[in-house]
Amino acid sequence: MTDLSGRTAIVTGASRGIGLGITEALARAGCRVAAVATSESSAEKGAAAARDAGGEALAFAADVRDGARADEVAKAVMGEWGRIDVLVNNAGITRDGLLMKMSDEDIDSVIDINLKAALFWSRAVARPMIKGRAGSIINVSSIVGLMGSPGQSNYAAAKAGLFGITRSLAAEFGARGVRVNAIAPGYIKTDMTADLPDEVKQKSLAGIPMGRFGEAADIANGVLFLASDASSYVTGTTLVIDGGMSL
Ligand code: NAP
Repeated sequence: MTDLSGRTAIVTGASRGIGLGITEALARAGCRVAAVATSESSAEKGAAAARDAGGEALAFAADVRDGARADEVAKAVMGEWGRIDVLVNNAGITRDGLLMKMSDEDIDSVIDINLKAALFWSRAVARPMIKGRAGSIINVSSIVGLMGSPGQSNYAAAKAGLFGITRSLAAEFGARGVRVNAIAPGYIKTDMTADLPDEVKQKSLAGIPMGRFGEAADIANGVLFLASDASSYVTGTTLVIDGGMSL
């Protein structure tokens, strides 16, 4: 089992779905987790789950689009725990639609929350990680960023952009001991996919060689690998966790 005792992590979007699964898995591995979500009550859901899993946790309400708030959260975590070992840029939204019907708000919000926020939060943890000469930043992208998807051009742009951030920061921080990697999930059962029409679900399932949708725990297992010393020579890469959907 992965042992992250003594380490600390910030997880954005920790209240539900994949982020909640990641938060629980990190806590079970002994990592202290700062759970970030849009409101006090939703952030507290992530923190409570981490405590239930046997870990220590803090809750922070933050809109990930707010760079100054990212700095505040990083400062508060440093004040409380004195180190930041792991950042999981997981918060994300979709606003699907054909481009001709997509509003400016659909484009801006998806790019800001899925893409720009990863720059803000990575910048916020960079100094403490570099000072400690260790750290692992994990960007939760999507196979949509690799493959494209009709009706998701805003989301695909944001998720593809995360690969650029991942590779650039891996090169920028590599000599300082800080690793930066991405995970590209396929279809994972969460609120984000719950409302898709049945025909889309059936079509998606038919395209998954392993014959099942993914669970948050499948992504959390990838995070545990990238957060731990088992991946100490892995940086700038993308771990695809999709049951073969992108093949
Ligand atoms: P989800 O169940 O809809 O949860 C989204 C999370 O993001 C919630 O914790 C939400 O917090 C948080 N969030 C949204 N906007 C935010 C903002 N402006 N500031 C702070 N937090 C915000 O989504 P999910 O399916 O777990 O997805 C998690 C990540 O995986 C996303 O980046 C998504 O793009 C990616 N992904 C998902 C799938 C999939 O099939 N589900 C596939 C590939 C990639 P609140 O609870 O406070 O709203």
